[in-house]
Amino acid sequence: MAGGDDTGALTPPRKPRAAKGPPRLWALVDCASFYCSCERLFRPDLLGKPVVVLSNNDGAVVAITPEAKELGFVRGDAYFKRERELSEAGVAVFSSNYALYGDISRRVIRTMESLAPEVLQYSIDEAFVPLGKALAPNALELGAAIRERVARWVGVPVRVGIGATRTLAKLANHWAKKSPSGVLFLAPGSERLELTLAATPVGDLWGIGRRGTAKLGKIGVRTAKDLRDMELPAARRLLTVTGERTVMELRGFQCVADDLSPAPRKTMVSSRSFGRKVERLQDLEEAVASHAARAGERLRSEGLAALGLSVFIETSRFGKDPFNAGATLCLGSPTNSTVSLVKAAKEALASCFAPGRRYAKCGIMLFDIASEEAGPPAGGLVPEDIDSRPAGLMGAMDEINAKYGRGTIRVMAEPGRDAYWKLRRDRLSKVSTCDLGLLPLALAKPWPGGAPGPAGPQSL
Ligand SMILES: [Mg+2]
Repeated sequence: MAGGDDTGALTPPRKPRAAKGPPRLWALVDCASFYCSCERLFRPDLLGKPVVVLSNNDGAVVAITPEAKELGFVRGDAYFKRERELSEAGVAVFSSNYALYGDISRRVIRTMESLAPEVLQYSIDEAFVPLGKALAPNALELGAAIRERVARWVGVPVRVGIGATRTLAKLANHWAKKSPSGVLFLAPGSERLELTLAATPVGDLWGIGRRGTAKLGKIGVRTAKDLRDMELPAARRLLTVTGERTVMELRGFQCVADDLSPAPRKTMVSSRSFGRKVERLQDLEEAVASHAARAGERLRSEGLAALGLSVFIETSRFGKDPFNAGATLCLGSPTNSTVSLVKAAKEALASCFAPGRRYAKCGIMLFDIASEEAGPPAGGLVPEDIDSRPAGLMGAMDEINAKYGRGTIRVMAEPGRDAYWKLRRDRLSKVSTCDLGLLPLALAKPWPGGAPGPAGPQSL
């Protein structure tokens, strides 16, 4: 699963430096039907055709293209129930190929970084781009350029929403799906912003869940515009401080902090640049393990568990020969155990580490995060949790660490690589951008009747 040079081989053009102070605008870039788009990269015949991707163990539909939605399929459909219908309707069905999606995701982010000084990855297929003084006046052009370059360099379609705050950028992105250009700017004070707010059901907003929608409905707050015009103390009473923040964001005041997400998380990223360059695998292992431990703590404190994990390592982007690599694993079943996360992170690192480089940064990303109580994905025949240790162990660890300081009790990740779950992946696409073993095989056979001479079919 070595990541290789990704887009590092392409020379990024000059771009403006990161601005100081709060950004003027935010852009949210989101890949369209991401998992399905990754599969289509290797199956151009599927462009415009219905595609679905199944969860872990081929349990349920987790990603779906609009074409498949039109045929009446939805995310969450249990595969065993709809297998026949899917095949009769001619829908292309794939098992999830996390290694591929993780690698394509990294390429998308790298490509965006060639155009914007700062890219904050928010989930496996979404990233926020803060637009400072230099970039904000050309926000639309930048959005179009990102879309064009990601399509050309990576091949995945993205949509860009731009607004004064992250909540408004999210909203713009939601509506960009319907715009043919794929880029939508909700300029502060514009009529389009007003119309969009009035046309958006409050439940479609970032951070307003089903429960929030129900509560707001009872007092007659139905659209995003209603919510924006709500009294702040009332919003706080009904939806706590997160709801109040959403109201402020809708009014154009930036309130969402970098590591603060108003919505239930789908992804969690923990990364940091090193104080000095790191070369040894062992040092990277320690860094990656501490990111995994931190993320595990955060998952548990929010009552969440993750199904997928990515590790990435990179040398300085400004050095002579920038290099980055990464690897992605499926954790088998949703987990928030530090033991499992650290182990998986080390395994992923081992598979993408390239010796002889001076690394400047590393990190991990957890994705496909769901509430702990939600259990395994719908319809999944999930094997027992890979972490059979009692949940009490992690609880005790968190308590001790909270009392005596972070890291008082740590996990010594077991060495050795156990095979991860042998998953049911009957419909796995046999493609990968990060596994030599999966390169397509081409057979060269002698030409029938001898080698073609000068008069032979040279046009072949
Ligand atoms: Mg998406």
